Amino acid sequence: MVGTRVVVRCADCPFETTHDRLRSAREALAAHEADAGHVVDWRIESVAPGVERAGADAGVCGRPECTNADSPLVDPNPDDR
Ligand SMILES: [Zn+2]
Repeated sequence: MVGTRVVVRCADCPFETTHDRLRSAREALAAHEADAGHVVDWRIESVAPGVERAGADAGVCGRPECTNADSPLVDPNPDDR
């Protein structure tokens, strides 16, 4: 069976957990950073089909809303007439 496997590992102490869901991994990461103030890293070791997209969306903001090319604030020629 192919599943998601995410390892959350702390850079400052032996804290390390393995999760089968991206959500729980993120929660564990945030919780340890909040509790201990440590820098926590995570690594996706394998991803179940369908979850890969969610992981990419979580890591990179590539949504169209974030790149508004029609914004009047970036109009190169505001007085072009
Ligand atoms: Zn730690």
